[in-house]
Amino acid sequence: MARIAFIGLGNMGGPMAANLVKSGHEVLGFDLAAPVLKAAEQSGVKPASHVSQAVKDAEIVISMLPQGRHVLTAWTDILQTAAPDMLVIDCSTIDVDSSRKAHEMAKAASCLSLDAPVSGGTGGAAAGTLTFMAGGSDEAFARAKPILEAMGKKIVHCGEAGAGQAAKICNNMILGISMVGVCEAFVLAEKLGLSHQALFDVASTSSGQCWSINSYCPVPGPVPTSPANNGYKPGFAAALMLKDLKLSQEAALATGASTPMGAEAAQLFALFDKQGNGGRDFSAIIEMFRDKV
Ligand code: NAD
Repeated sequence: MARIAFIGLGNMGGPMAANLVKSGHEVLGFDLAAPVLKAAEQSGVKPASHVSQAVKDAEIVISMLPQGRHVLTAWTDILQTAAPDMLVIDCSTIDVDSSRKAHEMAKAASCLSLDAPVSGGTGGAAAGTLTFMAGGSDEAFARAKPILEAMGKKIVHCGEAGAGQAAKICNNMILGISMVGVCEAFVLAEKLGLSHQALFDVASTSSGQCWSINSYCPVPGPVPTSPANNGYKPGFAAALMLKDLKLSQEAALATGASTPMGAEAAQLFALFDKQGNGGRDFSAIIEMFRDKV
């Protein structure tokens, strides 16, 4: 069993650290927010008063933070204390450039590093069923895999430094675009007098099928577990979808990739967020199409 430092114990990091404790690891945790740290203590995480206290003597460090700038700040502190050969894993969703910078910082400190963003949301974090998309060396991945398996059920090595973040933002750009398309189709069906169930029965088994309709249908009824049946309580909040779409557009700009549908989806979610819907499930964007954007 490993001695693990966990930095960032919020909505995702808290339950992920709790699953590491359940698997028998010794977990020292740090978060800037005192109530968050206290909550983690109740699930068996040993609270630290500073990053360096958590990292000292740890074999592995995991960060789960909001954005690239938070990760670079935390990794600067982590790597000041890190022993050579320590493995540092970032599970946050951040921009590819910051992720690659963090890997370079780790290399300069003779540490192994992995970017390993997740999909599966807070439900998957609590249940230990997250999907991890990892970027980094074979050696870093091999050491991280058994640790990540305590928090997730699918662990994919996507390539070198930053490849996990690249996979995450490409996947979520597909998701943002497909959800907009599915919502538009249901609103058109309503105008044509076609029932939700009839469109679902056809599209979910025909060429229109995709996760946004088959598993996460944006209208109540056809998929009982989708947030549409629960007042659009997230699930996956629209603000987080907007964050990921913005990351995809920054990456498209930096690389010269043409992503016109991604750009359109980013604009639509920005408008939805501006209307005060950032805390609702992202599939609630269907209401904006009923109001005619
Ligand atoms: P959160 O805001 O609940 O938690 C982040 C925590 O980081 C906070 O408790 C904050 O106090 C702490 N923090 C910030 N800077 C710090 C620092 N320098 N040192 C220590 N602690 C610091 O966010 P979350 O929902 O847990 O998301 C974390 C990451 O996971 C984000 O990048 C998000 O995009 C990604 N993600 C979230 C979900 C989701 O459904 N919530 C799903 C997939 C991926």
